[in-house]
Formats: sequence, structure tokens, C-alpha cells
Amino acid sequence: MKSLKNALPRSWALSPLLQYTESGGYDHKLCELEEAEDGVLFSSGMAAMSTTILAFAGAGDHVVMLDELYGGTHAFATDMFDRLGIGYSFAATSADAVAEAVTPATKVIVIESPTNPLLGIIDIQRVAQIGKERGIVTVIDNTFATPIHQRPISLGIDVVVHSGTKYLGGHSDLCCGVAVCSSQHAERIRHAARHLGGSLNASTCYLLERSLKTLAIRVERQTQNAARIAEYLAGHEAIRKVNYPGLPQSSGHEIARNQMTGFGAMLSFELDDKRIETASFLRRLKLIRPAVSLGGVESIICAPAETSHSKISSEERLRIGITDALLRLSVGIENSGDLLADLSQALYVK
Ligand code: PLP
Repeated sequence: MKSLKNALPRSWALSPLLQYTESGGYDHKLCELEEAEDGVLFSSGMAAMSTTILAFAGAGDHVVMLDELYGGTHAFATDMFDRLGIGYSFAATSADAVAEAVTPATKVIVIESPTNPLLGIIDIQRVAQIGKERGIVTVIDNTFATPIHQRPISLGIDVVVHSGTKYLGGHSDLCCGVAVCSSQHAERIRHAARHLGGSLNASTCYLLERSLKTLAIRVERQTQNAARIAEYLAGHEAIRKVNYPGLPQSSGHEIARNQMTGFGAMLSFELDDKRIETASFLRRLKLIRPAVSLGGVESIICAPAETSHSKISSEERLRIGITDALLRLSVGIENSGDLLADLSQALYVK
């Protein structure tokens, strides 16, 4: 595991936090956290992602994306790129697959690691290398990992995007997005943002600043809870499969150990439907609430096939591995014993 010394820089007490999209770049806390030169704030994670892609790709260009991506990002490509004249390919979650998908017209590579909702891991440094060798802008959605556990710019990635609605906000009470990168790339993104809008309002900036003060402590606690839950679920007779990069048996474990300082607080799992029905399991949960979104202090659970990935066709979802039985758990800061007790009573098998 890499060590992470200064999760929260001391200079924060004095540093200006945020910038209005129009106002030009200056240091702020999110740049410090991600070790970036400059950045742009947005009114949502999707505004940050769509504006970033459109800042670097236009008609005649090509974009490579992982097929395991947040459903909204996936749907942005399939719904809009044809109309915009942008070609695209989806690649499996591996650096080799990304390299194979690149064409002479590729201008942007978009990855996630861990991916939403299968917690797939890709070698970030290798993807960054592919981009550098061919002059392609590499973009990662770092929402699941958070800058507390993963700093992709230090691994060579060009642009880090977040849905700040999730861990950065942390209290399920704000919606924002961010793209951080070099000043040169930020200028391109800021230029596109001027046309596309999506600026963040001042009251949300205030809420975000409040939230960032507790980011490290929240994510640390959430990650500890998630590790205990993943281990518990992996050993449970009514669970068919657990996706969590912290489990030694998970396929991405070794790469995650090299590029993350912690495995994060998101996990997904499939119930054994011969033993337990998904609907009755969800009904029996008392502390963990069924809800969309993620990254907040309260534990929530959802079925991606019906929520975050509902816009993807069922054939495509199944091809990627997002079955109807898959449940995605965003682990909160509650007492881990209470969370395990809640899961245990809901997983009761006669
Ligand atoms: N990226 C990831 C990984 C997400 O899970 C989400 C939303 O769920 C987004 C981006 C989109 O963010 P927002 O809801 O802030 O537009």
C-alpha cells in the first residue's frame, strides 16, 4: 500500500476554496487534494464529465470509454455522440482492452476505477501511458475512490472528474461536480463550460467547503465499515458474489493495492436467489435504506439495473455483468456492529 501523508493539507485553513466557472483558475482545496494545478467546478458530476469530454472531442473525433462506467456517462455517449458526430468505442476494464480500442482519431479516453457498480479496477498508470504515447487526453472519474484513497494525477492521468454530490459533499444535501487538471487543460474545459453552462452556485460552494473539512475522517470510517461488511458478505451462505477490491480474492486486488491507499466504501453483491428474494431482503433492512446516490454518511443500497444503469439496454447490462440481482451498497459512518446486525437479520435464511 502506498502511504498517504497529508490527506488534508495544513494550508487549508487559509486557502481559498472555490472558483466560479467564469472566474479563472487559482489554488483551491480540491486542487490541493488531487495534486492538480487548476480546476473547474460544476453544478453536477454529469456537467463536469460531459463538459470535459466535449472540451477535447468534437465531430470526427473518437472517444474510448470503459463499458463499466456510471450509467449516466455511458448513456451520454450512446444518446448524444452520434448526433454530435463523435465516434466512440467501449472497452473492457483492462489497459490492454483500452489500447486495442484506440484509433488514430481517438482524442479522449474515459475510465473509472473502481468502476460503478462492479468495482472493477484498471491499471491507471498504464492507461495514462497509453494516452501520453499517443497524444490522447486521459480522463478518470475518481468519485468512488475519492482523493483520500487515490490521486490519479500523480499516476499520470490528465483530468480527474468527480461527482461532488457523493463523497466530497458527503451529506446527500448538495449536487456538484469538479474537473481538476493542468492549467492548460483547465483552460479548455473552462472555455467549453462558458458555452455549456453548469456553473456552481454560491450556496452549494458553502456547503461543499463545510463538507471537505470532514472528508478524510468520513471516508476513513466508511472504508473501515465497508471492509468489515465485504468480509462478512463474502462468507455468507446466501450471497453468491461480492465485488470489493479490498477482498484478496477480488480480481483487481493487486492493482488496487498498488494505486490506492485504501479500498473505499462502495461494494456490490448478488444474493443467491434460490435462498433469498431480493425484494424481501430489501424490505427487511432497517438501518440501511434503499435509495439512489452514494457517498453520504448514511448507508444506502440500490439495484443499479433499476436506478443508476436503467438507461442502458438490458442486453448491454447483462453483457457487462450488471444483473437484476446485483445490489450496490454505499457504506456510511454508522457503527459497524449495527450495520452487520442489520444485514444479518435481513439475510436470515429459513
Ligand atoms: N460519476 C459517478 C461514478 C456517479 O456515481 C455519478 C452519479 O451517480 C455521477 C458521476 C454523476 O454525478 P451527478 O449525479 O453529480 O451528476
